[in-house]
Amino acid sequence: MSPWFGKGIILASSIVMVIIRAPHGQRSRGVKVVRSSRGALEIVLLTLAWLAFFVPLVWIATPVFAFADYSLRPVPLSAGVVCLAVGLWLFARSHADLGTNWSITLEVREKHQLVTQGIYRALRHPMYSALLLYSLGQALVVSNWIAGPSYGVAMALLFAFRLGPEERMMLEAFGKDYEAYRGRTKRLVPGIW
Ligand code: SAH
Repeated sequence: MSPWFGKGIILASSIVMVIIRAPHGQRSRGVKVVRSSRGALEIVLLTLAWLAFFVPLVWIATPVFAFADYSLRPVPLSAGVVCLAVGLWLFARSHADLGTNWSITLEVREKHQLVTQGIYRALRHPMYSALLLYSLGQALVVSNWIAGPSYGVAMALLFAFRLGPEERMMLEAFGKDYEAYRGRTKRLVPGIW
């Protein structure tokens, strides 16, 4: 199959992701940050994640990664489209439920509310699940050994180092409420982990 199927799908998905996030980002930025747990490692990993987001777009627009291309097949392409669609749906849902409590990094905002409803009723980190699912979809539709897995590697690294500090920050901010919430929910995979 032509790699242009994957190129078109990932371009459209990247645009949808930006469209979903933009209004939430703008709204959250208007709310004052009262506590930040952003360390040097978080800054490095966030920068890496930003760079990784653009790697597939560079693959689409230029031949720099062409040496790592392989041929696209219908089954991975279809599975990838499903992962991307579910990932984007979950991304939109978690943004809608989190509202102005969202931050790109580890921050507590003024009048921050602990969200335990909607998609957060079952999972503590649905947005990270969404981004990991999206990354898997990208790896399946982008038929290139570098541009395909790049975002997934960056996301996995970011979340591996962030989950612990984020939960500690939430525990400090919300005490027993977060402890109880943590006790009845899973981190990333409903019913499993
Ligand atoms: N880890 C969550 C949120 C990602 S955005 C998810 O994957 O869905 C990161 C910010 O969200 C953190 O800085 C924290 O301030 C905030 N946050 C995380 N969980 C929250 C919750 N249950 N309620 C309110 N804010 C939360």
